[in-house]
This record gives sequence, C-alpha cells and structure tokens, in this order.
Amino acid sequence: MKKHNYSAGPCILPQEVFEKSAQAVLNFNNSGLSILEISHRSKDFVAVMEEARALVLELLDLEGKGYQALFLQGGASMEFLRVPYNLLKENGKASYLDTGTWAAGAIKEAKAFGETIVVASSKGENYNHIPKQYEIPADADYFHCTSNNTIFGTQMKDFPNTNIPIVCDMSSDIFSRQLDFSKFDLIYAGAQKNMGPAGVTLVAVKEEILGKTGRAIPNILNYQQHIDKESMYNTPAVFAVYTSLLTLQWLKNLGGIPGIEKINEAKAKLLYTEIDRNPLFIGTAVAEDRSTMNATFLLKDETQAAAFDKLWKDAGISGISGHRSVGGYRASMYNALPLESVQVLVDVMQEFEKTIS
Ligand SMILES: *Cc1c(COP(=O)(O)O)cnc(C)c1O
Repeated sequence: MKKHNYSAGPCILPQEVFEKSAQAVLNFNNSGLSILEISHRSKDFVAVMEEARALVLELLDLEGKGYQALFLQGGASMEFLRVPYNLLKENGKASYLDTGTWAAGAIKEAKAFGETIVVASSKGENYNHIPKQYEIPADADYFHCTSNNTIFGTQMKDFPNTNIPIVCDMSSDIFSRQLDFSKFDLIYAGAQKNMGPAGVTLVAVKEEILGKTGRAIPNILNYQQHIDKESMYNTPAVFAVYTSLLTLQWLKNLGGIPGIEKINEAKAKLLYTEIDRNPLFIGTAVAEDRSTMNATFLLKDETQAAAFDKLWKDAGISGISGHRSVGGYRASMYNALPLESVQVLVDVMQEFEKTIS
C-alpha cells in the first residue's frame, strides 16, 4: 500500500512523475535506450535541460528579467560555499539572517571568505520565530536569508527591502507559494524538498550581479561558467534533472504556483487547526511565522509517544518524526502531498484524543 509520506526530504513526488521517470529508465522517448545510458549531449537530453531551465523561469515569472536557471550538483550545501565565492568581494562583507540550522550552515561557510555580519538571530529561542527588526548594512555585498526553515517549521512571510542583492535559500518552499521572485537576485534550492529527487540543485541568478568580486573562481564553482556552458559545464545529474522537469510539468498543469498555493494553504490550515484545537498537542513555531510546508509540534505529555506513534504508523503514515535535533513531530506537506493525506493525520490525532480521554 502506498504510504502517506510526510518525509522532510528527500520527499514525496507526484505518482505520475514516478511512473514517467520509471518508464524513461526503461525506454526514454521511445529511443530504445534508457535515460541512464545516453549522452548528456544527445539531442533528447539537451532538449530536457533547455525545457527544464525555461520552465523554472516561467513558473517563477522571471522570464526576460535577466535571470538564468542552472541545475548544479553538490546540494544546497554547496551553494552555501558557492554564494560567497561568487558574490563576496575581496575585503567586502556579507550579511546574513540566522533563522535556523541551515541558515547557520550558510553563515559558517561565508565566514571562511570574509567579514560576515549576522543581522539578527532567533537561535536563543531555539529558532521558534523569524526575527523582524534588523538593519541590513547598505555597504554589504549581499544579504542572505532562508525562506523556510525546514527543521523548525518557520517561514518568512515578508522579505526586507534593500538596495543590495538578496540571496535566498528556498530549498524547502520553492514553487509552493506566490512571491515576487524578482525581488531576489539569487535563489537556490536543493531539488529533493519540493522539486525532484536528490542530486540536483536549482539556482536562479540575475546575471548582472556576477563577476564583481575580483577573486579568481575555479570553474566548477563559478556561476558564470555554468551559465556560459548552458548548465552543462560537466555532466549534469541527468536523471535528477529529467525527474525535476516532470515535476515542473506536473506543477504547470495544476495551474503553476497560484494553483498549488491554494492547495498548500488548505493543507496547512487543516493541520494547524487540529494542532491548536487538540488538547494533547502543541505547536512549536510562533503562530505568525508558521510554515505551510513543515508543521512542527509536540505531544504535551511525551509518555504518550509510543501509543501515538503506533496509531499513525497503523494508518499508513510515514516520516512525521521530528528532526533529530528537535524531537517531537514534523509533518512536511510539500507540493505533492495530497490534502487527503493531511486528513488522515488529522483523523489519527482526533482518534488519539478519544483513546486517551
Ligand atoms: C535540506 C536543506 C538544505 C541542505 O540541502 P542539501 O541539498 O542536503 O545540501 C539547505 N537548506 C535548507 C533550507 C534545507 O531544507
């Protein structure tokens, strides 16, 4: 039986994407060849890469605005390093907002390159909210933020206005909600949270911000190289790019980001309403900053955990244990998770309440 998969990443993808990508492993485009055994320079794969890059810009409404979409490797973690390498000037400084474990990871890498100012941090409160009052130094080379904090279940609802380039790690909420994406100069996202399988990272970068550091950048780390080589500087993650393309096509058919946003809001409302109503549970993120993607919550009485865990496992739910650094529960409701799966979880929480009282 197919599970209700709440995994935080790698995560659920649409069933039709699994089926189509499985087919391509056996016989890609009726070529008599598997997608796993063809050249990335073949006509069929070049078409995949071109369509995937174009579709990213179309779905984000970034077409004709000076952006380039790239499919790179090394995960979002590689971008923690690639961003300062490409944007932090010699003797310049970077500014970062610290909203969680991933943001802190990005800050650590930037510090290896130069002065790095943390404009605000919610670490003292175990990252249960997004800091709102802070000032971004006007002379910093860029400002970096994390739109959705996968581990702590918080999400930025507003983004600051600043004249310096804004870089955003959108790994866990890209393509989930409408935003003015042109506000950002560089967006990156590991595919495995909301776009495809692990192995590929999406970067959408405004080309004019590149080439200003005065630093020699090794080719593999240089965004401009990847742009010049049309995201094929070296062998791309062929299968991961293809599966991401299938997911983007699925999203487009659903009405793109406006279409999925409505569904995501309905899912989040359903679950948070139950977390707040049910006397056995408590949400861990401050209400106004709650993520529509990752809902984090605890049992008020942790001695009930074994009984609750049995109930949701029996209901076919998978992957709602909290991150090992936080504990409790985390229900990740990425684009491909159906509303019906959220209803199953809510039903389990209500059933649990009845068995306890
Ligand atoms: C998962 C995650 C990362 C790390 O991604 P990798 O692809 O494993 O390097 C970075 N940032 C955010 C927000 C994440 O959710």
